Amino acid sequence: MINTNMPILVIGGGIAGITAAVDAAEVGYRVILVEKEAYLGGRVLRMYRYFPKMCPPTCGFEINSRRIRQNPRITVHTLATVDEITGVAGSYTAKIKLQPRYVTGEHAIKDTIINKLTSERANDFNYGLDTTKALYMPHDMAYPPSYVLDRTALSEDDEQMLKAECPPGAIDFNMTEKEITVKAGAIIVATGWRPYDANNLDNLGYGICKNVITNVMMERLAAKSGSAGGEITRPSDGKKIENIAFVQCAGSRDKNHLPYCSAVCCMASLKQARYIREKNPDATVTIFYIDIRTIGREEKFYYEMLEDSNVQFIKGKVAKITQASDDHSLVLDVEDTLSREKLHSGFDMAVLATGMVPNTADAKLPYKTAYDEYGFIDAAKNTDGIYAVGCASRPCDVSRASKAGTGAALKAIQCMMGGE
Ligand code: SF4
Repeated sequence: MINTNMPILVIGGGIAGITAAVDAAEVGYRVILVEKEAYLGGRVLRMYRYFPKMCPPTCGFEINSRRIRQNPRITVHTLATVDEITGVAGSYTAKIKLQPRYVTGEHAIKDTIINKLTSERANDFNYGLDTTKALYMPHDMAYPPSYVLDRTALSEDDEQMLKAECPPGAIDFNMTEKEITVKAGAIIVATGWRPYDANNLDNLGYGICKNVITNVMMERLAAKSGSAGGEITRPSDGKKIENIAFVQCAGSRDKNHLPYCSAVCCMASLKQARYIREKNPDATVTIFYIDIRTIGREEKFYYEMLEDSNVQFIKGKVAKITQASDDHSLVLDVEDTLSREKLHSGFDMAVLATGMVPNTADAKLPYKTAYDEYGFIDAAKNTDGIYAVGCASRPCDVSRASKAGTGAALKAIQCMMGGE
């Protein structure tokens, strides 16, 4: 007999958490899915395409959001964080803090009203490449499909305009933070990752040269729903990209930054090199690397890119990126370690292949667990009944995170059936 009385709490609504939630719910368990952002989907949803099939994440997400929407056993809380966990395997109590969305969802708000707003905020979905209005839909496929109001960005005049023009009850300006308490038989921790902060890489020009971007920003440049409508152009002047550099291990495998390999950023750059070549067949790409690390069947993709005469691989760590005198182009200084030649080369744009930092590096979970020296949860020492998955426990790609989500759902179910 399966005891379905106790729900499973899933912390994190990215690909690993969503997979775990859907898999557990579809075999009969109740699931409470908690996500700190205003929408589900995590970082995968911000990609243009992902491996192994190079498909857009929106296809898989649409299927998953339908499975969530149609499954009454799943309760979703967005803008939510877990503040306290007490109890033991089979019987946990968790306190969940819910931030106000302010938009009640009870009445539609017309576009004409939103267009009148002058208050804007950095669009975090697009990694700050553009802005949104202070009252915004997080992205085209947001689930839940509901607007959010960023009150910290809202001017007094705009607040008065919204109060005057929105249907009564559409926005609750008195909404406050709430706390709810839930019971759970097992907990799945899928708190994910964030990109390493490229501002720490003083020598690589990020934040100084407008045309130095990071790999996650490139995904939003390439995506049709992104900041540039899918055109990969030079941020400083919109020029079509003719030659671009990818800087591998930007801050990774470096004892001053991230000493470990994030496992996915070589593949990400190879994939992004293909975006460039598809969108502009005349463009040239140079990938500066220490080692190219591709795993499993993705190795084939690397060999295909090696065949492309417009893609050059140079083994060497980029020492410096500076702005050229035209205020747009970039100059990269790097030693080619195979030829021993010191290069001083010009590019339209540079993409820093930054690594993954676990969100638990500085926001520890409210229960006693083991972390490795970088802040990843040591899944080998999982607490009974609480299971860390995906990038909460190690850097991994979409497919591995999703499989780990299924594995965690099985572990949680075993725990609740008394198997652990
Ligand atoms: Fe460097 Fe590649 Fe490892 Fe990323 S995957 S840290 S770019 S070697």
